[in-house]
Amino acid sequence: MLETILDKIKEYQTIIIHRHMRPDPDALGSQVGLQRLLQKNFPEKAIKVTGYTEPNLAWLAQMETVADEDYQGALVIVTDTANQARIDDKRYDQGEALIKIDHHPNDEVYGDISWVDTSASSCSEMIAHFALEMGLDLDSDIAYLLYAGIVGDTGRFLYPATTAKTFDIVAKLRQYDFDFAGLSRQMDSVDYTIAKLIGYVYDHLEVDGNGAARVILSQSLLKEYGITDADTAFIVGVPGRVNTVKNWGVFVEQPDGSYRVRLRSKFLPINEIAKRHHGGGHPLASGANSYSLEENEQIYQELQQVAADASK
Ligand code: AMP
Repeated sequence: MLETILDKIKEYQTIIIHRHMRPDPDALGSQVGLQRLLQKNFPEKAIKVTGYTEPNLAWLAQMETVADEDYQGALVIVTDTANQARIDDKRYDQGEALIKIDHHPNDEVYGDISWVDTSASSCSEMIAHFALEMGLDLDSDIAYLLYAGIVGDTGRFLYPATTAKTFDIVAKLRQYDFDFAGLSRQMDSVDYTIAKLIGYVYDHLEVDGNGAARVILSQSLLKEYGITDADTAFIVGVPGRVNTVKNWGVFVEQPDGSYRVRLRSKFLPINEIAKRHHGGGHPLASGANSYSLEENEQIYQELQQVAADASK
């Protein structure tokens, strides 16, 4: 598979890399890490990245302007995105060939070539594996981006998806000279507004007898605390620090009154719940969308059922 992908890359002069909406460090690390990797190893090619520049992560990576004409005869690679509806920049199908590289459950197969490895901690780990196995040259910039992606998706090596292979790859990336401590600080620190929201989450967390937890963040609360929907990425792991909590949902109200529901679990999968409610994701980290207060209740009841099953 790795050779097939490398051969395809060699065939094309222009390569455009996409990733999912609402990008996180792994989406950006894999997307821009791959861009820099290909630029370094194929300097004669035009390698571009497109999508929304997430202000919270602009320190990590910024997007470029890609013209419609650039897609003519181009190879498009999509990283870290399970399904086409979540691909940021809908022109991903305008190229001549399409490659999917992802580590989410392969619920929707797309692309002419599809490399999906659900055992990988992150898509950035897959890109690093590809580079190392294919003997491509890396540098400090590339290592920094891929390392950031791996740290992001493993919660700094906390989640079960962290494997011996993850550490092996990280050890190799760490041999490059990048500001390791600065990156760790950057990824670990939050604005004071977020720190206050963390206080709110602990104060208002509802936990049932089996360890199913929820917190609801209304639009008025987000305004009061001066935070955006994207900022909730900084607090989504917070309920899991409570030892009695087994799984949880962070219900974030959107301007149109619907809810983005960020679901997490320590033991039993919750991605089937996400799939039943307009979403998907990993077994222990998924996202759903809810269109009414009744649906919010329904989602919480389903979380409670999973927590009850985990308690048996
Ligand atoms: P988040 O809560 O946004 O950090 O998402 C956790 C995981 O679930 C990530 O791997 C996302 O890619 C995935 N995910 C979030 N929302 C959705 C959605 N609406 N559809 C499919 N996957 C999602």
